[in-house]
Amino acid sequence: MTQILYSKPIVDSELGELKDAIKTLKNAPKLKVILIGNNPSSKIYVKRKKEFCESIGAICEIIQKNDDFQPLELESLLCNINKDDEINGCLVQLPLPPQFDGFNFQELISPLKDVDGFHKDNIFSIYKKSSGDFLLPCTPLGIIKLLQHYNINVSGKNITIIGRSLIVGKPLSMMLTNLDATVTLCHSRTRDLANFTKAADIIISAVGSPNFLTCDYFKDDKSQVLIDVGISSLKQNKITGDIDFNGVKNQVASITPVPGGVGPMTILSLAKNLVKSAYIQENLKKA
Ligand code: NAD
Repeated sequence: MTQILYSKPIVDSELGELKDAIKTLKNAPKLKVILIGNNPSSKIYVKRKKEFCESIGAICEIIQKNDDFQPLELESLLCNINKDDEINGCLVQLPLPPQFDGFNFQELISPLKDVDGFHKDNIFSIYKKSSGDFLLPCTPLGIIKLLQHYNINVSGKNITIIGRSLIVGKPLSMMLTNLDATVTLCHSRTRDLANFTKAADIIISAVGSPNFLTCDYFKDDKSQVLIDVGISSLKQNKITGDIDFNGVKNQVASITPVPGGVGPMTILSLAKNLVKSAYIQENLKKA
């Protein structure tokens, strides 16, 4: 039987731990989420983040800005958030309007408050395989947690990641390399993608193209593990992933569903990063 890698049991079991961790802090952790423009999907994601934070006893405030909000205004807003001791975490919801193309807002958030884990100091800590306190990017962190929960060992495994974004593919490739996996990072210019997917023990897809990975991309010996990061919107508020779930599920060992797989793990990781950032900041104040 194919194992369906649902995130719900993981999220449910971590909720209690997060609530308990928050009770040991002097103040409830506080997150600011900056939402620029009117992207309907972004509004839904931000609402889910707020609801999840509140469900564990953290505070989440959404700062909504119009489509014409400018990079310099964002810079000044982030500067004020960095200076505010009562705010533990901050994120800017992606995607941003075109005036932000090439604007490196990630470096303007203090690495200690960078709950998305995008700041170069946090990324460099992965690169160095640092053991110190730093914040890891949420989706890669959630994927690794999901694999660990289902006892899917990555050490020595061949892992093919499809998609080389700064938020998923690239950091995930480093994090899995640190865990002794042999990682191949594929992208839009990769030739013969099926050669790489068929050769892998674990395939992680972060492309954003609905159902583009069909049964032809995988072995049929029920040995492979498929992790679907992709989220594409369909009609009637439905979403789907990169993998043709129904078409491939019977030929693989395990597969994540969409929805109910990687998405909730990302939000869980965000909440964990927020609690971690609050701990780091509280300890720094004591020191
Ligand atoms: P992106 O949208 O920035 O880039 C897509 C990547 O796919 C690129 O690296 C590109 O090279 C690659 N690609 C495009 N066409 C390809 C092809 N034919 N063959 C191989 N590679 C191809 O990436 P992103 O921001 O990581 O988002 C990818 C998807 O993951 C989107 O659907 C996004 O919504 C979703 N996402 C989901 C979560 C979650 O929590 N589940 C988190 C982040 C992103």
